[in-house]
Amino acid sequence: MKNVKIVIAGPRGRMGREAVQLVLDTENYELAAVVDRKHEGKKLGEIDGFPQSEAPVYTDFEKCLQEIEPDVLIDLTTPEVGMFHTRTALKYKVRPVVGTTGFSKDDLSELERMCTEQETGCIIAPNFAVGAVLMMKFSQMAARYFRDVEIIELHHDQKLDAPSGTAVKTAQMIAEVRETKIQGHKDEKETIKGARGADYDGMHIHSVRLPGLIAHQQVMFGADGQTLTIRHDSYNRSSFMSGVKLAVDTVVKMDSFVYGLENIIE
Ligand code: NAP
Repeated sequence: MKNVKIVIAGPRGRMGREAVQLVLDTENYELAAVVDRKHEGKKLGEIDGFPQSEAPVYTDFEKCLQEIEPDVLIDLTTPEVGMFHTRTALKYKVRPVVGTTGFSKDDLSELERMCTEQETGCIIAPNFAVGAVLMMKFSQMAARYFRDVEIIELHHDQKLDAPSGTAVKTAQMIAEVRETKIQGHKDEKETIKGARGADYDGMHIHSVRLPGLIAHQQVMFGADGQTLTIRHDSYNRSSFMSGVKLAVDTVVKMDSFVYGLENIIE
């Protein structure tokens, strides 16, 4: 079988380092290059903390795509940079697997349009942890019976976007099956702004940021005399890598746009 040529953007990041290890450890994957803000012209293996690797480091993403002609881009950067990389990859018909979170609805619509025009596959997954995908699916199932729900997402304090991509995705999936309901008392008033969290179709989303956390989410449903809590915890970043691998293996066979790992898990 032909090797899948992969470029990783954001290799020095916490997720990027795990993805580098995944690609180096996977038999039919080739780490063709990495895209970083620094170290132009070096080999990845020459950078402190990386294992032996001849993969060249590029700071210019477009030049990287022109010279390397990869099959897949794995992007684990920041929302703005990730959006630029994904757009550019699609322009060159390179299939993106994007873990970067914080894309807006308009960003996602634009990328979906580009995939259709370019007939190029793209997977955007706000959460690569299989357990988190199940948590979202179970929450959608529960929302058919419980209209009152609050989402509490908890992450490390270096996270840039709030609420998390997973929380937004959960709210979207719940909204698909839940009749809109403005929750809480009709005369409810916040004495400190933000106390009730963000509002998505009448549901509330609360974002906790603390050092020590990785990625966690609790979805709480309430009804007369009962509550139901569905919770998922990622305790390290390697928990995301089986999902990254599934996305890479799937995207190489696809010519369309997928948002959310749940759409490629049976
Ligand atoms: P991180 O440790 O801050 O890493 C982000 C990396 O992106 C940094 O190394 C940063 O480089 C790099 N970067 C910034 N601008 C760049 C550019 N122009 N070119 C190349 N690299 C650039 O963050 P993280 O925890 O790894 O998370 C990365 C992204 O994945 C975030 O959006 C996060 O929310 C998301 N995430 C997704 C999942 C999932 O399952 N989908 C799970 C966890 C996290 P510098 O060091 O030079 O700034």
